Amino acid sequence: KTPLLEVRNLETSFSINGKWHNAVDNVSFKINRKKIVGIVGESGCGKSVLSLSVIGLLPKLNSRISNGEIVFEGKNLAELSDNEMNKVRGKDVSMIFQEPMTSLNPVLTIGYQLSEVLHNHRNISKAEAREESIALLKSVGISRPEKIVDEYPHQLSGGMRQRVMIAIAIACQPKLLIADEPTTALDVTVQAQILDLLKEIQEINDMSIIMITHDLGVVAEMCDEVIVMYAGRVVEHTDVDTLFYDPKHPYTKALLDSIPKLDEEAVELNTIKGIVPSLVNMPAVGCRFVDRCAHAMKECREITPQLASESEGHDVACLLYKSSFPREGVKTS
Ligand code: SF4
Ligand code: MG
Repeated sequence: KTPLLEVRNLETSFSINGKWHNAVDNVSFKINRKKIVGIVGESGCGKSVLSLSVIGLLPKLNSRISNGEIVFEGKNLAELSDNEMNKVRGKDVSMIFQEPMTSLNPVLTIGYQLSEVLHNHRNISKAEAREESIALLKSVGISRPEKIVDEYPHQLSGGMRQRVMIAIAIACQPKLLIADEPTTALDVTVQAQILDLLKEIQEINDMSIIMITHDLGVVAEMCDEVIVMYAGRVVEHTDVDTLFYDPKHPYTKALLDSIPKLDEEAVELNTIKGIVPSLVNMPAVGCRFVDRCAHAMKECREITPQLASESEGHDVACLLYKSSFPREGVKTS
């Protein structure tokens, strides 16, 4: 069976002082139908750039897809025109962001913004769009949708706004939803409700979700598979149980070690010693984790580890594993 989405050798680069640097570097993965796949890593690891590449929302002035393919249901999204991509976005692939206030228009009613998506992708009357908007609001757990439909974003709580964003994102029943830190800005109880809602919608609508998060608790709760990114590259990709019980990559292990214990205050993931190298200081060859890795060897600065299958369904890019050494006929970056 063909995957819903297949990203092949993707490179997304940013122009900094006249030079192009890869924020996403030779990334490949598949997303199967009806799966929730987490993408984890510290900030600056390329998670958001990767998702903006998939949905065609990269800032045009200073970024571009410089190599690779993004194949969604047989169509390479990376080569679509803006016009063609506008037809895909919102209909086949949707995205929700961390702060719904920035993606909702403050001067338009909730109903107007929902109807707009419906009108963009379907031939539907004003009255029908209003009816459907109310039904959609109801389906994302908003009580009194007949009232909310005429309200403005600022009249709603953060959790309600995120529900509205989800309603807009699923209005045309996309097969893929990208959720970029969808609960980070919300308080803990609301977070749990939004995650439950996403899971419920995923099952009802038979969609796949790419869940971008720095929170391994969210991964454990929600995901079937996990992709771990470091400095623009995928370093590990496996199912969620294997990730927690048999992690291979030293970066993944460090992330797991940084999960706060139950009796500690919640902390961000960047408790691993050192920082992600900045785009302009990325080493041309070798492993990008080398300066922070407890297992670093001499060859880690000379050979770029390749993401390869270490065992069935478990891909790793680390020179501690033979499979990660470059092989002939395989594209290296
Ligand atoms: Fe550490 Fe080397 Fe593996 Fe990179 S390739 S994670 S430096 S052991
Ligand atoms: Mg981000």
